[in-house]
Amino acid sequence: MNALLTHHGIDLRGIPVDASAPVMVTGATGYLGSWVAAGLLQAGATVHAPVRDPHDQRKTGHLLRAAEATPGTLRLFTADLLEPGSYDEATAGCTTIIHTASPFIRSVSDPQRDLVDPALEGTRNVLGSAKRCDSVRRVVLTSSIAAMYGDAADLSRAPGHLITEEGWNTSSSLTHEPYSYSKTLAEKEAWRIAGHQERWDLVTIHPSLILGPALGPAPASDSFTIMEMLLDGTMRSGAPRIGLAVVDVREVAQAHLAAAFLPQAHGRYIVSAQDTDSLGLADMLRPRYGGRLPLPRRAVPRPIIMALAPRLGLTRDYVRRNVGYPLRADASRSRELGLRYRPVQESLESMVEQMLKRR
Ligand code: NAP
Repeated sequence: MNALLTHHGIDLRGIPVDASAPVMVTGATGYLGSWVAAGLLQAGATVHAPVRDPHDQRKTGHLLRAAEATPGTLRLFTADLLEPGSYDEATAGCTTIIHTASPFIRSVSDPQRDLVDPALEGTRNVLGSAKRCDSVRRVVLTSSIAAMYGDAADLSRAPGHLITEEGWNTSSSLTHEPYSYSKTLAEKEAWRIAGHQERWDLVTIHPSLILGPALGPAPASDSFTIMEMLLDGTMRSGAPRIGLAVVDVREVAQAHLAAAFLPQAHGRYIVSAQDTDSLGLADMLRPRYGGRLPLPRRAVPRPIIMALAPRLGLTRDYVRRNVGYPLRADASRSRELGLRYRPVQESLESMVEQMLKRR
């Protein structure tokens, strides 16, 4: 069995996982979804995993191996976020749905097609199946802190400059930060749909930037693209001071399971371990990797970032509204889910170690 699962996996203590009915996990092939599915399998649950191609062993092999090595049972189904009704079969018999599937890719050619449609139509589709299925009692949706604020500059109006569970993103759009826009639209739609029925309740989880090792071989998640930019020399001459809040993927998975099974869980939960920025991440990696990786050592002044923005995959508007602003996420409510965060340095080192081995 994957040593990550046995020795460095999810802390399930205090989470009353109900293994008497199957749990549907969307996005189980993904970075976060794999850990959620593996945690359920570890707890002996039956996981219904609707995926785009159940025969693609590159994407499902690690899940099948996790199922073999744990007391749980895995059942794969075929479904697509954009195909209405395609989650009905996997939903049948489930009391709990954990909807993680949604693209986390910042660089796309068509934001409507590549981000908003799968996020929004996918949420309508998955929650539509929940509405049609009599057994469902709880739906957990992976939202993001990106649904709670648009640009760091917006937070200068927030009390204490903090991202909180009360906040909504009002400044992202199809042309400015479309990923954040897709998460905001999807979460609003989820609350609207949940409000029109009474059988199941909705809990939303709002991770900051997720770090830590992957269970699968090659997640498409931008968590890895962002980390690669720190490691591959793109920022060799300096890093932009872009505020980041970060959290380990295993704690995010734990939050989903707690939200799924703690009866008292309700509303929105920010899940975040530490506020930092790209230079702060480099500083945490320097003791172990400074000698062999071209990590940034200094902050690049804003006018230079402005000039370099396209090369860093950033728009000038983004730079104007985000570089030089601190970012602070208030994750205190997540303690109610029993979360204790491991040091970010540990998450970073295990992620980077794995990425270097896979190069
Ligand atoms: P990921 O590894 O790319 O996972 C995305 C998952 O969504 C994959 O399983 C993918 O399936 C599935 N998916 C995408 N398009 C689909 C479609 N049309 N039909 C069916 N499935 C589809 O990304 P991740 O980082 O784990 O993200 C998971 C969730 O966490 C997302 O909701 C994301 O917004 C949220 N989130 C992530 C972060 C972060 O820092 N990573 C932070 C906050 C919130 P395939 O394997 O078939 O592509």
